[in-house]
Amino acid sequence: MTREERQLREAIIAKCRWMNASGLNQGTSGNISARYKDVMLITPSATPYDAMKPEMIAAMSLEGEYGSWTGPLQPSTEWRFHLDIMRGRPDVGGVVHTHSTYATVLAIARKSIPACHYMMAAFGGQDIRCAGYARYGTAELSELALAALEGRNGCLLANHGMIAIGANLDKAMWLAVELETIARQYYLSLALGQPHILSEAEIADTARGFSTYGLQTPKEKPAKAKPAKATKAAARQNVETKRSRK
Ligand SMILES: [Zn+2]
Repeated sequence: MTREERQLREAIIAKCRWMNASGLNQGTSGNISARYKDVMLITPSATPYDAMKPEMIAAMSLEGEYGSWTGPLQPSTEWRFHLDIMRGRPDVGGVVHTHSTYATVLAIARKSIPACHYMMAAFGGQDIRCAGYARYGTAELSELALAALEGRNGCLLANHGMIAIGANLDKAMWLAVELETIARQYYLSLALGQPHILSEAEIADTARGFSTYGLQTPKEKPAKAKPAKATKAAARQNVETKRSRK
């Protein structure tokens, strides 16, 4: 195992523990995967996060035989949608699946989340869809999830939970938190009655704003040096003025 792979396995475990400590997930119901070269690293089935060690993480082939894996423990029972997402979406480097409360509550009501908050733009469109119901771990559930994720970075799973995906593990976990937050906000706004939904133009405008994140170049350092030079020049001039006075 390379150092890089070990670090990624450790990051998966750290994220698992964090999502339980933060209340985003309960018990061992959630699962996390990350892309590493031509394999998908995924949490093992029914293993308490506190007992999890880097070598217990299962590695599933992304290009070889479908469903083949290596490791001492079986991959998560939800490995199918993790694997199908990674295989079908080369842009995805991390997948987080949780049964977080508010996302699941909306999924039980079979409600997609409309653009009730501008953060919806981070999910790639106007809504977070709710995929239809199929039993956990099945190919049918994976198919439904992939369809709901079309052009999106997150979805709900009817009577089950949610999935958030990102270019890497950090991004996927960030979106998982955002998804649960929007779900909670939408639920509460429904309780209050008649939430106002943002228009496509408003979400598109926000998405444009998001697209320039990280593109800013830091301000040039000489900005600080300039006044110093100016001060020196002024000081010199001052000295010269003093001299000329003499
Ligand atoms: Zn699940």
